[in-house]
Amino acid sequence: MKTSISQAIILHHTNYGEADRIVTFLTPDHGRLKGFARAARKSRKRFGAALEPFAEVQLHWSARSSGDLISLRDAELVNLRSGLRRDLETLTLASYGCELTEVLFDESGVGVEVFQLLRAFLDHLDNEGYSVEARLLLEIRMLSLSGYLPHLQHCADCFGPLPSGPVGFSAAADGSLCPACDGGRSVLKVDRMTLGTFGRIMQTPLTSFADFKLSLRSRQEGQTLLNDALQCHLHRPLKSLEFLNRFSPEETS
Ligand SMILES: [Zn+2]
Repeated sequence: MKTSISQAIILHHTNYGEADRIVTFLTPDHGRLKGFARAARKSRKRFGAALEPFAEVQLHWSARSSGDLISLRDAELVNLRSGLRRDLETLTLASYGCELTEVLFDESGVGVEVFQLLRAFLDHLDNEGYSVEARLLLEIRMLSLSGYLPHLQHCADCFGPLPSGPVGFSAAADGSLCPACDGGRSVLKVDRMTLGTFGRIMQTPLTSFADFKLSLRSRQEGQTLLNDALQCHLHRPLKSLEFLNRFSPEETS
């Protein structure tokens, strides 16, 4: 049976039976895959710590004749990213990144850019730890790659310019609304400067996370806006999200 070798990020795993494990992982070339790791919990020699969540590995696998699970043969650990376990905030944000990837993209819809984005995000958290900025950068880029990014720099209805100062926003209306189009539909107000900041973020490489410092206002408004935008597209509640939101109560309105 042909064995394939893939660079992969482990998203999560579940135990199966007495000694086996089912592992979900992300690859640059094959999208998201689910694999069966026989005796993974019994024999540490074969997989070691390579199947732990967030680890980057070289996976050796082969397709199975039936079913959607592939068979995992071997895994070489490239980077365990143990810095993600430095504190609960960092660990939860890393889990959220993996969960968001699973919910926003179906198995075959995960392109190489999603892999690059998640890898850069996890590497950044591994080195620098939790920050609201890292979360916002991930969310806005995930929305963009999934095709769900709302209109931010112009009116979502008439495509006209937006006024300076507070601008109406509604994810259900697909973004910012000028006063003429708003008609009471906006669910929140976002300063034009925050929208401008988000526009500048979209001009940066999607793997760039270091050295972004946003004002308190941009962080607060950004979290509220992205929360509204993401809620429209999450088809199930994220386990990590409720937990994550507890870490920044002063940041959310
Ligand atoms: Zn308009």
